[in-house]
Amino acid sequence: MILVQEHKEPQHNLKTEKFLTPKRLSLALSQHAGEPSTPCVSLGQEIKEAQNIATSSGYISSPLHAPCDGKIIAIEIGNHPVLRKSECITIQCQANNKGYPSLIKNIENTTKESLLKDIKDAGIVGLGGAAFPAHVKLNPPKKIDTIVINGCECEPYLSTDNRMMIENLTEIFKGIEIIAKIIEPNEIIFAIESNKPEAIKKLNLFINTKKFGFSKIRLSVLKTAYPQGGEKQLIFSTTNRKVEPGKLPLDIGCLVQNVATAFAIYEAVYLKKPLIERLVSFCGDALLKPKNVWVKIGTSLQELFDEKILEFKEEPKKVISGGPMMGVCLDNLNYPILKGSGGFLFLSSPVSEEKEYPCIRCARCIDACPMNLLPLEYAKIIKKEKYNLLTDLSIKDCIECGCCAWVCPSKIPLVHYVKIGKKYEPKNI
Ligand code: SF4
Ligand code: SF4
Repeated sequence: MILVQEHKEPQHNLKTEKFLTPKRLSLALSQHAGEPSTPCVSLGQEIKEAQNIATSSGYISSPLHAPCDGKIIAIEIGNHPVLRKSECITIQCQANNKGYPSLIKNIENTTKESLLKDIKDAGIVGLGGAAFPAHVKLNPPKKIDTIVINGCECEPYLSTDNRMMIENLTEIFKGIEIIAKIIEPNEIIFAIESNKPEAIKKLNLFINTKKFGFSKIRLSVLKTAYPQGGEKQLIFSTTNRKVEPGKLPLDIGCLVQNVATAFAIYEAVYLKKPLIERLVSFCGDALLKPKNVWVKIGTSLQELFDEKILEFKEEPKKVISGGPMMGVCLDNLNYPILKGSGGFLFLSSPVSEEKEYPCIRCARCIDACPMNLLPLEYAKIIKKEKYNLLTDLSIKDCIECGCCAWVCPSKIPLVHYVKIGKKYEPKNI
């Protein structure tokens, strides 16, 4: 793991804001890992907030819901902040925020099956970045003895998890209770990095004074390093168990859930509220005031500036969907917020030099790689298009954390090469 400049101030310490009255929303059907959802509405149809507008298309898929009352004005290919283009449902918004009173008091008398159905029907996906459908992750084929709740948020700039742990801890713990009821683990570990003192103080107080519907939970305060919040790194840091190459956390009895996902699970079960809003970090030195804002899924970046929710201090030289380590550059502001969008960065200068120099074989990329891979070899092989040579180099285990590229003195875009390598690696490997 590496140390990177955090850039979490000032948004880290500011109360969250809300913008829940957009004029128009664009909902990509590819919001999650797995198969894109399938539209179940038609052009011109009037819809109500929380109505299902696209159904899941397979085992690893998730439904999509209307974030507001309105009318379907397009179902066509539109902008996607990660894939560039995807089929999208566009809604002209008419009314927002119908309100979601709590429908149940506790989950004691609710079955696991019913909880999983609520989570599936609400379209909950992992909000830590991967957007993996939560009902699939919470129905593992093997016994899980340890749940790790991920509050690390190690990517520089981003601070939504920190704010949620400060502002929404009760709801997060109700979500953890639901997860624990479904999985029945022996232990729950709440993991957080040491750079979040206010959240740590609240968590300590909460864990030591409240009663929960699960027995064993402990707080694990980890050193601030990148990528501490990566699933495999987090499991090793908290349990000392290693997920071997090609294996999954469930193979060693572990399951990791992000704090924001726990919050969304609480809303799905207690409020019957689908995943139609999320907290997003808007940061970077090109913004007048970096902040964390609750927005409807599908809100465009452009509308946030049009409505003066965000303002530029100066014209950005670089706009990134995500953080500086794993994010994707955007060429304009006409991109919608996805279920998995944790943040957007607006920078007054490029993050790094664009020009690539020859490899000097310094091995810094190898030392920095948290997965013990050989990024310099990937770049060499991929430049020569000898993809079959990737066979023995476990390229699939690369988590695209960006540590190798960050430390490379020759500015070689190593993650870019990895992405190409993963795409062209022979499939029978
Ligand atoms: S860090 Fe860059 S220059 Fe050094 S070995 Fe790796 S790829 Fe080559
Ligand atoms: S090779 Fe992959 S896992 Fe290793 S440092 Fe580079 S991006 Fe991260």
